[in-house]
Amino acid sequence: MNMKTWTVVLIILVLSALALRLAGPVRGAVYSAFREVEMRSATRDVAGWTTVSTPAVEVAFRGDPIIAALVLETAQEQLAQVSYDLRFVPEKRILVILHETREELRGAFGWPESEDAMGVYWGGVVRVLSPKAWVDTNDIDVISARFRAESTLGHEFTHLLLDYMTQGNYPRWFSEGLAQYEEYLISGHVWTEPYLDGKPPYYSYSEMAGFENLDDQAKAYNQAFLMVYYMARQYGWEKMIGLLNALSSGQSFGAAVNTVYGIAEKEMAGRWTSWAEALDVPPYSTEQRSRDLRGGMG
Ligand SMILES: [Zn+2]
Repeated sequence: MNMKTWTVVLIILVLSALALRLAGPVRGAVYSAFREVEMRSATRDVAGWTTVSTPAVEVAFRGDPIIAALVLETAQEQLAQVSYDLRFVPEKRILVILHETREELRGAFGWPESEDAMGVYWGGVVRVLSPKAWVDTNDIDVISARFRAESTLGHEFTHLLLDYMTQGNYPRWFSEGLAQYEEYLISGHVWTEPYLDGKPPYYSYSEMAGFENLDDQAKAYNQAFLMVYYMARQYGWEKMIGLLNALSSGQSFGAAVNTVYGIAEKEMAGRWTSWAEALDVPPYSTEQRSRDLRGGMG
C-alpha cells in the first residue's frame, strides 16, 4: 500500500474507534430527543387542564379536586421512595396526567378496548387512572387507602427513573421486573402469582428478550418480577445499584451483569431458573411481604 492508502486506512480506523466510542452517547442523545418530543406532545394534550403541584410532581386533571389532591400526595410519597431506592433524583418536575375513565386513558394512545391499564409510563410522562373508575364507593377514606395500596404510581415512577438514569438502556423485562419489585416494596402488591401448580416451563432468557411479544403476558410479567426479586435478594441491593450505574454508563445489559456480578447474563439466568423451579410457594409469603415493606432494602 502507498502512503495515501495508509492514510485512508488510518483515518477509517480512527473514525471507527470514534464511532464505537460515541455509539452509547449518540444513542442516548437520540433517545432523549425522542422522549422530549413525546413529552411536549403529552403536555400539549393537557393544556387548559387544572393542575396541582409540589416542586417534584405536577398533576393535571379535569375531575374531582379531592381525588387530584390524593393523587398528588400519593405520587409525592411514592416518587420519594423510588427515588431513594434507586438513588436518583430527576432534574425536572414530573407530569402526572390523571384520567377519569379507562376510555380516556386508552384514547391517549389509541389502544383497543381489551387494554385495561391502570397507569402508563411513556415518553417522560406518567398517566394514571382515577380511583373513581375502579373503587366503587364515595367514601374518601376507602378510596384513599385503596389508591395508596393498589395504584401503579410507584411502578410507573420506577419506569421513569430507570429511563432517565440510563437513557433507555435496558431490556424491557428488566424495567417491568424492577417496577413490580418497587411496587411490591411500596405496598406489598404483586400483579400476578407465580406458576407453582404443575410448573409449566418458564420462558427462556432469550424469549424474555422479546418481552412484549410473548403470548402469556401474565407469566412474562411474573417471571420478570421474580428475576429482579432473585437478583435483589440473592446478591443484595448494592449490586442492583451497581447494575443501574453500569447501565447508566452505557454498558449493555450483559456487560453490566458481568461487571457487577462477575458472571455472564446466561449464567445469571440459569441460576434464576434453578431457583425458580425449586420454589414450592411464592418467595414472598404474607409475613415476608410485611417485613419487606420499606425496610426491604437490605
Ligand atoms: Zn410496567
